[in-house]
Amino acid sequence: MIQKPRGTFDIMPEETPLWQYIEATARNTAALYGYKEIRTPTFEATELFQRGVGDTTDVVQKEMYTFTDRENRSFTLRPEGTASVARALIENGRCSDTLPLKLYYMINCFRYEKPQAGRSREFYQFGVEMYGAADAAADADTIGVANSIIRNLGITDVSLHINSIGCPNCRPAYRLELYNYFKAHEDELCDTCKSRLETNPLRILDCKSPICSKIGEGAPKSIDHLCPECADHMDKLKNHLDEMGIEYEIDTNIVRGLDYYTRTVFEFICTAIGAQSTVCGGGRYDGLMKELGGPQMPGIGFAMGITRLILAMKACGSVPDTCNFPSLYIAPMGKAAQCKASGIVSKLRSKGVYAEYDLVGRSLKAQMKYADKTGAFFTLIIGDSEIESGKAILKNMKESSQQEIDLNDINALMKAIGYEV
Ligand code: ATP
Ligand code: MG
Repeated sequence: MIQKPRGTFDIMPEETPLWQYIEATARNTAALYGYKEIRTPTFEATELFQRGVGDTTDVVQKEMYTFTDRENRSFTLRPEGTASVARALIENGRCSDTLPLKLYYMINCFRYEKPQAGRSREFYQFGVEMYGAADAAADADTIGVANSIIRNLGITDVSLHINSIGCPNCRPAYRLELYNYFKAHEDELCDTCKSRLETNPLRILDCKSPICSKIGEGAPKSIDHLCPECADHMDKLKNHLDEMGIEYEIDTNIVRGLDYYTRTVFEFICTAIGAQSTVCGGGRYDGLMKELGGPQMPGIGFAMGITRLILAMKACGSVPDTCNFPSLYIAPMGKAAQCKASGIVSKLRSKGVYAEYDLVGRSLKAQMKYADKTGAFFTLIIGDSEIESGKAILKNMKESSQQEIDLNDINALMKAIGYEV
């Protein structure tokens, strides 16, 4: 038997209602903040991610699904959404539109990672991107979107961690200090971090190995090395969050170690879901658009992993009852009755009623068992005599009551099963 690739998963019909619920909550919430959806290709030129995610990141160095097509061009299945959105805005000439530009996306992403709870090779992200707003108010507004989605999903056991990693003015001096600190501990660092030391010492702060984390605790903090403008930006952000009633903590371990990431970085963390506890990660990237060949334009955004939201909802007991039951099940006896049932059901469906009838020729007993299993609220049995008289018995399955209805009066039938006509 052919099996699905390692690190991927099927979402079966029992689970899709929860996915749809989360997707709808995210879309509706983002719409309240003025975001519109953007859809971009599943694969892009590899160079886009090398530049947009960064050559020195784990994602680009170790995790990308890269292939050459029949004409030997290198493409990559998107490992994230930000670079593609920036590319699309530049390519479609949208950078001169009225600012800010506010886009959201709901996508599948691909990363070659070690599969475990909350971490897969194909996974799903909801993300937002705002371009053209440099003020800290935009950071707070973006964090507000994520916070609202998480709250609307009933996830209570979560905390917002924020940090500032400075800007091209203040980061070089900080970076040097960080380099000197880790250089003194070089022998103790993991192999990956040994190479990060030269290419991108900030990333060492992000390392999950216990030894590197321990060394990282004593490292100089970016927040203590901010220029006056960056410090002011951070203060403003805090004021906005306070005003909005959003609680946060300063977490100096949160970094985005790329040159075009600037100032604010943040994560929503839910410790109840185990090691993969970050349900949402985001930050400001004022240099990204330019890096990808567009104008100098500030940007900020976040992405949240849908699987991790589900784990968090389960941990917080906030998974809603999203089951959908048929209002009416028609049990026909014989071909003529089946034909009649198809007409009634199609009229009901055109009025927005969820109705079903037998398609596989079950016995009456088996049909009633089936109706019970689907959770149908009402059943209607039709045979030759019902067709002839035009009358049939409608059974209320929940209350075990019944009433006679006119088969040819759809409005009366709708009323009988609880709809307003
Ligand atoms: P992590 O540190 O957990 O690897 P990351 O920093 O690589 O996360 P981002 O690139 O910021 O993650 O992606 C944003 C969000 O997407 C994460 O916070 C997480 O919820 C989700 N995510 C990232 N990688 C995966 C994955 N392999 N499987 C499932 N969800 C993921
Ligand atoms: Mg990762």
